[in-house]
Amino acid sequence: MRQIRTVKGTHDILPGDTNKWQVLEKIIHGVGSRFGYQEIRTPIFEETQLFARSMGEDTDIVSKEMYSWKDRDGTNLTLRPELTAPVVRSFIQHSLGTAAPLQRLYYIGPSFRRERPQKGRLRQFHQFGVEAFGSGNPEQDAEVIAMAWHILSQLGISESSALQLNSIGSPDCRMAYRETLKEFIRPNLDQLSETSQKRFETNPLRILDTKATHEKKMLEGAPSVSDCYTDEDKWHFESVQDFLNAMDIPFTLNPRLVRGLDYYTRTVFEFTSKTLGAQDALLGGGRYDGLVETLGGKATPGIGFAAGMERFLMAMEEIEQKSGESKNDIYFVCLNEEGLSDALSLSNELRQAGYNVISDPLRRSMKAQMREANKSGARFALILGETEREQKSIQVKDLKNGDQISIAQSDLIHHFQHLTK
Ligand code: AMP
Repeated sequence: MRQIRTVKGTHDILPGDTNKWQVLEKIIHGVGSRFGYQEIRTPIFEETQLFARSMGEDTDIVSKEMYSWKDRDGTNLTLRPELTAPVVRSFIQHSLGTAAPLQRLYYIGPSFRRERPQKGRLRQFHQFGVEAFGSGNPEQDAEVIAMAWHILSQLGISESSALQLNSIGSPDCRMAYRETLKEFIRPNLDQLSETSQKRFETNPLRILDTKATHEKKMLEGAPSVSDCYTDEDKWHFESVQDFLNAMDIPFTLNPRLVRGLDYYTRTVFEFTSKTLGAQDALLGGGRYDGLVETLGGKATPGIGFAAGMERFLMAMEEIEQKSGESKNDIYFVCLNEEGLSDALSLSNELRQAGYNVISDPLRRSMKAQMREANKSGARFALILGETEREQKSIQVKDLKNGDQISIAQSDLIHHFQHLTK
C-alpha cells in the first residue's frame, strides 16, 4: 500500500522542534503583554468574500493562492491566507471598537497559501502578528514597530535584520500618485510583462513590487510617492521616524516599498533577514485606516504587522541555548509491580507541586530504568524498591554528582522544595 505522507508544502513539527516553537510563542505572548496587547483567536476558514474584499481581487493571494471551496450550502469558503482580515471581521462583528477607544490585539496561528514551495515558503505556514485599532497617530505606528523590534531582539536576531520603512500616503495622495506613475510608465508600457500591464490598469503601484530586472531598471527614474504627500502625510511620516529614532530602532527609508495589498495607507514597513536568502521577508506590516470601513464597520484607524514564524525560526541562531530550560526534573524508578500505586501517587503529588516527573511504563529492569533516567536529562532519580515500600521511604539520587540518600516518603515534597530554593 502507498505510504501516505504530508501534502506538498506542509510540514509536521516534530517533538525535537516543538520546544523552539514554544520559546518563540512564549516571547510573543511576553512582548504582547508588556505592550498591553491581548490575544485573539479566529477560525481557520472564513467566507471567501472577506479576503477578496479586503486584499483586492487582483492581488496574487486572492487571484491564485487561496484554498477555496464551495460548502454544501453553496457558501464560498477559504482557508485563511492571512489574519488581518479575520481580525478586522471579528473586531466589527463583536463591536470591539465600542467597548474601548483602543483595541490592541495579537494573534498566532496557521495561514494557507498555494504558492510554489521552496526554502522559507510553505503552503501551510504560521504567522503571528498584531493589530492596533483606534489611533491614527504616528506614536501608534512607532509602538507597533517597536513590538516587532522587541521580539526580534529577544530572539537575538535584531542585529541580522533590517527594517525598511516608507509611507504611501493618504488615499488622496495615492490617487494622485497613481496617475503620476501611470504617466511615467505609459511610454514603455509595451515592454512590461503581462502581469505588470494588467496592474497598470488595476493597481499601478504594485508594479513597483516587480522582481523582474528589466522592469526594475525601467522604474529607476520613476517619480516617488513622496512627491504627492499632503502636509499631514509628511508630518505623520516624519513623526514616525522621529519616534523610532528616539527608541534607537534603526531603519532605512525605501521609497519603493509599497507592499502587495490594497488596504495599506501611510506607513508601510518590512523587516528582512540578512541570513535567509531569497525568501528574506521576516515580517511586514502597515497602516490600514480604511480597512474597517471597507469591511462594513465604522471608520476606524488601524495598523499592524504579520510575521512568518518558520522564517523566524530559520533566522534564529543559538535558539538551542535559549530553550535550554530543564525539561525533566525527576525520573521515577519503580522496581516492582507492588510499588506502582505508590509511585503513581507520589509522582502526581510532585507534579501538583510543580515538578516535571517522568516514569517508565515498560516495567524494565533497574539498570535499564537508570539508563533512561540519565538519558532523560532529569536532575534526580527517585528509586522505590521493596524495602522502601515497606519502610515508606524513598531513595533520592542526584544524577549530577551521584549522591544518594534515603528519605521518608512524607518528606518528599518538602525535600525538593528545600533543594530547589
Ligand atoms: P505577508 O502577509 O505576505 O506580508 O506575509 C507576512 C509574513 O509571513 C512574511 O513576511 C513571511 O515571513 C511570512 N510568509 C508569507 N508567505 C509565506 C509562505 N508561503 N511561507 C512561509 N512564510 C510566509
